[in-house]
Order: sequence, then structure tokens, then C-alpha cells
Amino acid sequence: MTATQIRQAFLDFFVSKGHVIVPSAPIVVKNDPTLMFTNAGMNQFKNIFLGEAPAKAPRVADTQRCLRVSGKHNDLEEVGIDTYHHTMFEMLGNWSFGDYFKKDAIAWSWELLTEVYKLDKNRLYVTYFEGDEKEGLEKDTETYELWKQYVDESHILPGNKKDNFWEMGETGPCGPCSEIHFDSRPDNERAEVDGATLVNADHDQVIEIWNNVFMQFNRIKDGSLHSLPAKHVDTGMGFERLVRVLQGKTSNYDTDVFQPMIQFIAEKSGKKYNSAAKPGDADWADAVAMRVLADHIRAISFAISDGQLPASNKAGYVIRRILRRAVRYSYQTLGFKEPFFNELVPLLAEQFKGVFDELWNQKDFVQKVILEEETAFLRTLEKGIQVFEQYKSDITGEQAFLLSDTYGFPIDLTELMARERGLIVDLKGYEAALQEQKSRSRAASAIDTGDWIMVKDEDEAVEFTGYDETETIAHIIKYRKVTAKGKEQYQIVLDKTPFYAESGGQVGDKGELVFPNGDIVEVTDTKKENGLVVHFTDTLPSTPDDALTAIVDADRRNNTNSNHSATHLLHAAMKQVLGTHVNQKGSLVNADYLRFDFSHFAKVTEDELAQIEAIVNQKVRENIPLKEERMVAYQEAISMGVTALFGEKYGEYVRVITFDDAFSKELCGGTHVKATGQIGYFKIITESAVAAGVRRIEAITGIAAENYINEQTKLVQQVKELLKNPKDISKSIETLLEENNRLKKEIEKSVLEKSSGLKDELAKKAENINGINFIAQRVELPNADAVKNLAYNLKDIVSDLFLVLAAEINGKPNITVMIAENLVKDKGLHAGNIVKELAKEVKGGGGGQPFYATAGGSDAGGIDKALEKAKTFVA
Ligand code: ATP
Ligand code: MG
Repeated sequence: MTATQIRQAFLDFFVSKGHVIVPSAPIVVKNDPTLMFTNAGMNQFKNIFLGEAPAKAPRVADTQRCLRVSGKHNDLEEVGIDTYHHTMFEMLGNWSFGDYFKKDAIAWSWELLTEVYKLDKNRLYVTYFEGDEKEGLEKDTETYELWKQYVDESHILPGNKKDNFWEMGETGPCGPCSEIHFDSRPDNERAEVDGATLVNADHDQVIEIWNNVFMQFNRIKDGSLHSLPAKHVDTGMGFERLVRVLQGKTSNYDTDVFQPMIQFIAEKSGKKYNSAAKPGDADWADAVAMRVLADHIRAISFAISDGQLPASNKAGYVIRRILRRAVRYSYQTLGFKEPFFNELVPLLAEQFKGVFDELWNQKDFVQKVILEEETAFLRTLEKGIQVFEQYKSDITGEQAFLLSDTYGFPIDLTELMARERGLIVDLKGYEAALQEQKSRSRAASAIDTGDWIMVKDEDEAVEFTGYDETETIAHIIKYRKVTAKGKEQYQIVLDKTPFYAESGGQVGDKGELVFPNGDIVEVTDTKKENGLVVHFTDTLPSTPDDALTAIVDADRRNNTNSNHSATHLLHAAMKQVLGTHVNQKGSLVNADYLRFDFSHFAKVTEDELAQIEAIVNQKVRENIPLKEERMVAYQEAISMGVTALFGEKYGEYVRVITFDDAFSKELCGGTHVKATGQIGYFKIITESAVAAGVRRIEAITGIAAENYINEQTKLVQQVKELLKNPKDISKSIETLLEENNRLKKEIEKSVLEKSSGLKDELAKKAENINGINFIAQRVELPNADAVKNLAYNLKDIVSDLFLVLAAEINGKPNITVMIAENLVKDKGLHAGNIVKELAKEVKGGGGGQPFYATAGGSDAGGIDKALEKAKTFVA
């Protein structure tokens, strides 16, 4: 079976068991402060498990792209070294939301593996949770009994909390689980050592392929477990591992999922891939490097196509670090001194066509972003090598840390380079510096989130009323305290709310919660967390049970609406003027302005900007009414030709915002004007580059645009007045500039004339001391260039010259020393050293070459003393 067939067989099997196939969520998580990247198939269903949102279907299945490079699940350091952990992998999963439980889940996983995929039963091992006294959790005998129907007891093994109790993160849904492991060792080895002893023992031929989690609990902040409202099944099977066992391989990298990529890398590097290489073998390092590249390109590409560009903080930094890890291996081990990593993108995009089309649709963009990062990092690496080469003695911990932190040198590279030069690296010092940095950044980002305090029992999803009104009567469902950077805040969830929670680039609403007893709780921001709308406040009401009126700051909201609708018009106008390749790459919409990032490979010209602006303003004047369709089936919307964004997770039903059927149709959850005329006027303020292939437009609307135009008009008026109201301002400024240029040149000329006049005068003042023609004089010249000129001119006409010139330039002393070259040689005189001494008299400093040097100072009163002192160097 090919990988493609294996994936399809999984999905088909669960369809036959009544499951609905859903699309993978994006790999980049939005709206969940506890998670950066999707690390399991269940993430997108978290709020269903928690009872915060209803399930759309009781049974679903999918293949989810996952990333395990940060947080609780982080496999990054294993990747490449072992053969079955990846950064990005596909997790095949089936779910029951309060529908079937352990019995069916176990029966079906066995049926699929042994009857559909026909895996050898003797090589399969299953596990169950042995219980945990400390947590008060019982042994999962139910699972044990269920397995006994299919599996010999010698292949059913107990497992501890670490392996058999699954948790997504520090808090959240969790429960006991049952894993399925596969032993792919050759028969002779199997005869010698019982496979059961190798399960969960990090043996690379006895690996976990599938985990069936029985979600029953929610772990809250204080560590305690609470029963979930219903029991669920959540399973996850590593696709690449499944393919490996079905294709009879001993490494995931030997399957058709990775081989094309590995072979491409091998060919381009002129090296061979040896899958069997062991640590210590000559080709081990190459094998690891090829695996790292073949793996990391997947994580990077999918993160970028789902909207996470490499950056210097948070999720973007995680992506940048993975990319750098790959580039290091490519540079250091495989010998690619020029960017190469990005060349893997087309192959990968091709491979995932029809599975995750997001990548195929953006492959040029993704490749360009990687190329840019790679180029920049290669430059940094080279700089790091230069820094390293300046180290002449053993490398201190701080130096090693600097190399890793600033120049991306892994510690083993530093050690290797040190060894080549017979130097030692202070590893302990390095570790200490690393730990210190870690604890610093932990302290800076520590957020203490308290548990929810329930006010009202409510299972229904929260209702958002803000599309229709800005004031709603509501109740508090729950609230909690959050402390970050020493500041205490509260988060409040209402049963109904007109407050728009930050998303899709639009900022969260501000406003007030007004209580019957007169309490007013100010809402400072509104954010989404999974499905919840969370209101941020600095205080709590004294009567949280009372009905309240939630009132949005309507002015702020109206301005935001204008900017949001204008963003849609802008997007459509850009597609018309620049081409359909223009895709939104990020946006910010607030009450003051809008910011729109988009894929486009060249600067947008003035002319194009003017056209775009004109189209938008035309649409504003047409006063097109908003057409808002709240519940359109996703597929129907797509076939209507709406603009959907990459990396956005859309549900089964979507909201479509249309301004003129033939002009702008977008999937959007934001708030908008009732008709485009409300935008008033649209004005682009800047156009700039933000990253490789990504440009940014900033624009304003309505009152902000009016203010802007007024200010510009006022400015022109002021200029006009300064110029004494000419008919043509630009012409008048041009004349002024020309005049100014001419005058500058004239001044330069007269200064030159003056300094050559001075030359002859000074030459006459030369005093012969010990065979040296000594001149030390104060001169009146307007700038340093003129003094320099004079010194060089004197050198041409006076032999054996020792010259000191002092001038006051814009009130500051300036000293110049010029010494004939023969004097420098024969008498050991050094202008640089001498000028330093003289500068002390004018409270300054300077330096230069042996024959010419200058100094500045702050006390012009010392000039005469300096000139007197000059003589002491020749007398
Ligand atoms: P392991 O102990 O092997 O790291 P896990 O216990 O972390 O696995 P789960 O969190 O239960 O794994 O994830 C479900 C399945 O996803 C696993 O059975 C495995 O097949 C697969 N899987 C987990 N992590 C990875 C990874 N880094 N790369 C590829 N597949 C993985
Ligand atoms: Mg793991």
C-alpha cells in the first residue's frame, strides 16, 4: 500500500463506522493562550470536550497536521537522531463526542489494524492504565477486559501515568489511554528478547503507533481533576509510523513519505543516504542531517502556509529556530554553503497536493520566505565563525553562549571548532549562562491564570449579539483572576454579549458592564479563548449574579467598522489592480487605522496606489449596502467565489460579507458598516515591505482621513505663506533650492581662495628649529575641510615641515598636526600621539596617522596653550 492509500483506507474505514470526515485545523493555533501550535488531533475539539461548545457531529475522523516543537510535547531534539519522531507529522484520528466509548473504540482499532491493514497480531502489544494512588485514579480494568477478547494476555501490558494518562497541557481535558505498539524486529531477535519488555522502553523497533484516549476529566489550575460533562473518545495514530510498519520498514524515513525528499537531498549534496548508519559510523552525521532537512522542511512550510512567519519572538521564534537548526545541518554537515533548504518546498508541495492544498497554493511564497531567512542566517553563521576565530585561548561559558544565542552556533559546533584548534570549551559556564537566560525569559512571560469561578451553570454556547446591537442585557457565567507582570486583571464570560472579541485582525471592543446597583465595570479589552468571548476588566462587580447591561463603546466600534469594511474594499481593489496572486497575509483593524499585509513581489508603484485608492473611493461613493449572510454552508460559499484566507479555521457554516456581488465577497466574522458611504473617505498613508514577498499598506478612513487631509492642507498653506504666496509652490521651492546650491558653491570657492592666500603667509612664518621647519598658528577658517586643505598645501611647499594649525569652528576648537614623512621616519615623530597631547589643552581628544592627525575639543580658550606646547616636541 502506498502512503496515500493507507491514509484513505483509514478515513474510509471510519466513514463506514458512521464518522464524518472533517478538515485538518491549521497547524498554527489562534485564540488559545495555552498552545502555540496544534500538537494533537484533539486540539480543535477542546471546547467540545470542555462542554463549552456543542459537537457538530457525534462521530468525526480526520488527518490532522501536528507540530511537536514546544510546550508539553516537544520532540525537536530527537528529530533526525531517531527514526520515528518528527517535528511535523500527520495524526490520524477518530472521535466520539459523548457517543461510543471504550468498547467500540477498542474493537474498531483492532479491526482496522488486523483486518483492513492486516498487521501481524503477534507483533502488536496493547496497554492500559494501571491506576495512580496519588491522584486517586483507579486501574482501568474495563479496558483490560475489553482487550482480552482480541489479544493474548501476554500482549496486554499495564502502563503508568506518564504513558497511559494523556494530557494536552498543564490544564485541560485528559483521561486514561490505551496505546497500541508494534514490534518490527527480525524473528531471531524476537525469539531472544520478549517484545513485551521493550514496550515504552525507547526501543526504535518497538514503537507506539496508536493511542486511544478516553477523555473523562478536566485538569484545573490547582492540579485537581474534575469529571467532564460527558465521556469522549479521542484517538491519534501517527501516520508516518503506520506507513512504516505497513511497508515493512525499520525507519519512517525509508517509506514513500520521506524517500523522495531524502533522495533529492542526497543527490544535491553528492552524498549517499545510509539508513543503517549507527552513531560512530563515518556516514552517521550525514544520515542525521538528511533526516533533519527532510523533516524540518515540513514543519517550516506548513507553519508559514498557515500564517506563521519566522520572527524574533513567540511562535515566530520557534519557527525561526527550527529553520536555523536545518540550515546549520545543511551548511555544517552536508556542505551547502549557499541557500539550499528552500529548494525542498516545491517537492513537498507536490507531495501534499490533494491532502493539504494550502501549501500547493502558496508554494512560491513559502519558498521565498525560507530563502530570505536562510540567506540571512548563513550570513550570521559566517560572522559567528569570524568571531570565533578571534578567540585565541579556551572558550569561556559566556563566549560559547554568545555564539549560540547571537550567531546560532549549537554547542557541539563550538566544541568541534575548538577541538580543531586545541581549545577547550567551558561547558559548565555555558550551561549556567543558558539556564540564566531561560529563567529570565520565564519570569518575563509568567502568567498566573486562576481557575474559573462559576456564577451560573450554562452549557449553551455564548451568544454574540454584536452584529445587531451594541447594548445587551446579560448575565455573568463565570470569571477568573489573571496575574501577569505583577498586574491583576479579571476575565469575565457572559451568556450573551455585544462585545466583539479580537479576531481576524479586528481589535476587541471596549466598553462597560453596568449593574442595577450602580456598579460599572469597565471592559478594557475583549479576546477569544477557544469558543469563549472573554471580557478583560480591572475590577469585579459586587453583585456578580445580577443581570447587567453590556454596553460597547459605540464610537470606537463605528470607526473600527469603517476600517474593517474598507479593508475588504481594498483587498478587492488590489486584486483588480495588482492581480489575483494578492492574498491577505495579516491585517490589523482598529478605530484609528487599518493595516493590510499581502503577498506581492514588488513595490506597489505610486500609480498603482492611486488606482487602488480611486477604486475604493468610487465604491464608497456608490454607498453599497452591506449584504451579510450568517449561515452559509462552507462549500456553498466557496463555490460562490468568496475570498477565504489561508491558515484560517472555518467551521461548517460561515459568514459571508458582500459589498456588491461583483466586487467583494469575503468570509469574515468581523463587524462592518451598514453601507459603504459610512466610510466617508479612504486614504492610503504608507506602502512598505514587511518580509520576503510580503508588503504592507496602511490606510485611514472617515474622521481620521478628514483630519489627515486638513493637516496636509494646513501644511501646504503654511509653506505658501513662508514663500510669500507664490502662484506655483513647487516652482518657487525649486528656484530656492537652486539659489541655495549656487550660494553654497560660491562660499566653498571663496574659502578655498582664502586658504591658499593663507598658505603663502604661513609658509613665511616657518621657524627653523634643529633642522625642522616649525609652524604653529591659529587660523580663521569656517570648516575642517578648509583646514585640512591648507595643511596639505603647506606640506607641498615647505620641506621638513612640522605644522600645527588651530582653528575655532562653530565655537569648538580644532587642532591639526601635519609632519613631513622624512621627519616621521628619521626623528620618530608621530602626529597622532602629538595631537592627543595637544588636545588635552582644549579638553578634547583625537588621533590619526603618524604624518597627519586631528583633534577636537570643548574649550577654545586653551588654543594658545596648545600652540605653545607644540614647540616642546621639536625643541
Ligand atoms: P511517543 O511516546 O512515541 O513520543 P506519544 O506518547 O508522545 O508518543 P501521543 O501523544 O499519544 O504520542 O500521540 C499519538 C500518536 O501520534 C502516537 O501514537 C504516535 O504514533 C504519533 N506521534 C506522537 N509524537 C510523534 C512525533 N513526534 N512524530 C511522529 N509521530 C508521533
Ligand atoms: Mg511523545
